[in-house]
Amino acid sequence: MTGTTQDDYTDRYARRVRGMTTSEIRALFAVASRPEVVSLAGGSPYIAALPLDAVGEMLNQLAAEQGAQSLQYGIGQGTVDLRERICEVMALSGISGASPDDVVVTVGGQQALDLLARLFLDPGDVVLAEGPSYVGALGVFQAAQAQVKHVPMDDDGLIPAALEEAIAAVERSGRKAKFLYTIPTFQNPAGVTLTEERREQVLDICERAGLLVVEDDPYGMLSFETEAPRPLRARRREGVFYVSTFSKTFAPGLRVGWILAPHAVREKLVMMSEANVLCPSAFAQGAVTQYLSTMPWQEQIKVYREIYRERRDAMLGALRDLMPPGTSWTHPTGGLFVWATLPEGLDSKAMMPRAIAARVAYVPGTGFYADGTGRSNMRLNFSFSAPERIREGIRRLSGVMEQELAM
Ligand code: PMP
Repeated sequence: MTGTTQDDYTDRYARRVRGMTTSEIRALFAVASRPEVVSLAGGSPYIAALPLDAVGEMLNQLAAEQGAQSLQYGIGQGTVDLRERICEVMALSGISGASPDDVVVTVGGQQALDLLARLFLDPGDVVLAEGPSYVGALGVFQAAQAQVKHVPMDDDGLIPAALEEAIAAVERSGRKAKFLYTIPTFQNPAGVTLTEERREQVLDICERAGLLVVEDDPYGMLSFETEAPRPLRARRREGVFYVSTFSKTFAPGLRVGWILAPHAVREKLVMMSEANVLCPSAFAQGAVTQYLSTMPWQEQIKVYREIYRERRDAMLGALRDLMPPGTSWTHPTGGLFVWATLPEGLDSKAMMPRAIAARVAYVPGTGFYADGTGRSNMRLNFSFSAPERIREGIRRLSGVMEQELAM
């Protein structure tokens, strides 16, 4: 799909670049964004639901009234105002008493993951992560030349016994895992949520094994039914690094996320971030601060929840009505994704060109594993397309699958 180009620089690249391959998602975006294709591939929030006129006015005001700060360089850690607001946001999820001084504002959750990887990972180190896991995090770990060992999930999230086994297996190989990277709530891509009981078990296991936890929580506020279980960081302060972002609750285009880290580590993270980006965008931080201070952002989250719930229902309904026998899928109670498992013999990666020809796109499961597995899976996004488009997309997809099965 992405035709390979001649690269005369191959021999000159640093070692960490050698394993880098084009992200399947990025390669897909070009094709999937054609209007005739129903894209279930992306992970974009439905920005059209924002009150864009009011946001525009807010941004105008920000430039006119606070331009001297918001168009200037800022400090590496991020503005105090925003860090205070971030602590209020976290308190709503159950992380109480966090100090703004322990928060580092980042360029999206993505930079937060990158900073943590730079801080903790040496080449050859092992990271434990759910299987499947977030493609952007896998890219970060790969760039750090770390090795990802996947821990399986079921409908209740990460399986504690499997985590214990994975830790033991790494130890048997004479190494030690540096941290567990986990998305416990409305996981990307699996759409499952770690239960209350398992949260305690996972934390206990990590504590016993001396394993740090990187908790990535972009979706926790996007629940469709009951509120999501409290984050891991709300249960343990020590050894848990909490990462989140305004990408899914406000706007990914602003690129504002954060890390909540123990104090000593926080200082190192700021130094790393300064070396990396000097400081996060002052204007984007100003925009988020204004949005949180002056606009009904919690109401807006309710709007997102309603829209996504309806779209999730449309997707689950269409899957139930249209998928060939032997297909199974998760039933997310929040977030943006359904994870489907195909009938025996189907290969989501090989099928992709036929799906595109049938004007539907998804992300093959292989992108979410560091070890090349996932061919019998696909990630389906329900946040971006309207319910009737989702149904049409699933109809096209099931048509392609029926054809493959008949081959
Ligand atoms: N973590 C997870 C699990 C995600 O799904 C995403 C975005 N898709 C991110 C981190 C990064 O998001 P951003 O950089 O936009 O904050």
